[in-house]
Amino acid sequence: MEYFKVKNLTVPKTYSLQEVGITQSLLSTWKTCRRKFLFSINRWERIENDRFAYHSMMHYLLEVLYSGATGVTILKELTKYKLPGKPDEIETMKAVAQVMISYYIMHYKKDFTEKRFESVEGKFSIKFGDYLLLGKKDGRFRDKQGGRWHIEHKNYARIDEDFLMQHLSFDLQNMFYALADLIEFKKPLKGVLYNIIRKPETRKERSTQELYQHLEKEVSKNPEHYFIRYEIPYALSEIEEFKRSLQFQLDEIDSTIGGCHADTELIPVAFYKNESACDGKYRCPFLGACSTGNMCGYRQRKVLFPELI
Ligand code: SF4
Repeated sequence: MEYFKVKNLTVPKTYSLQEVGITQSLLSTWKTCRRKFLFSINRWERIENDRFAYHSMMHYLLEVLYSGATGVTILKELTKYKLPGKPDEIETMKAVAQVMISYYIMHYKKDFTEKRFESVEGKFSIKFGDYLLLGKKDGRFRDKQGGRWHIEHKNYARIDEDFLMQHLSFDLQNMFYALADLIEFKKPLKGVLYNIIRKPETRKERSTQELYQHLEKEVSKNPEHYFIRYEIPYALSEIEEFKRSLQFQLDEIDSTIGGCHADTELIPVAFYKNESACDGKYRCPFLGACSTGNMCGYRQRKVLFPELI
């Protein structure tokens, strides 16, 4: 069987920052590795790509929750939710999710009386000069004083609190959304509520029932270990600085794309591999493609931005 060759990748004529736009995730890909960016704008993905299955399910449950559903409805949605994987893995993931979401609702009951949610999973498409910024915010709410906040949900298995406390002050996603919010509302938001639900460790030898009981005991004993929040304010001056640097970065992407349209020989050169980025927090899914030069084990998605679905 003949596989598509990496050397035949082009910059799609249909892609532009002006007409199609960019998400923070695609911008982050550009900053991580230009070759990965090239794979992404061509919509390639690994066929086995269920690494974020648990994260996506928890995200969905939180979306339903903050849209006004009751705990009973959430559990019904969890039962119906379709997960990839083997039946025992699915059962384990759902047992974990059931415990975590049930205790989350109890732990943060004030969310449902003191916060006024204005949008949940709200998409935006905002003009930034000639370019288009795209995204989907987990939630936007008003606090008791009427201040506007974003909430960002994360499910991490390992959490380095010292690193996060410092790094979140210039987190790309938070800054990107804060800027989009400033353009839309003409006034800076109060901050971002970074909402982490720790993914518990699961041991294979436990039955689902044992796992469920074990997690209930663990989470009820120490909820602060599993539910962590940071309130991060961003000053207008920080958002303005981000705005200038974003302009610089988008101009660089735009001119690279334009240069490769004019001279296709430039494509492998301009979209060079960043060998330092192959094995970071997560192993790059395109390692196989970069090492073999073909797209065996990959497929092309229908949509460019799966994060906006
Ligand atoms: S494997 Fe490495 S070089 Fe290849 S796309 Fe990923 S990060 Fe870039």
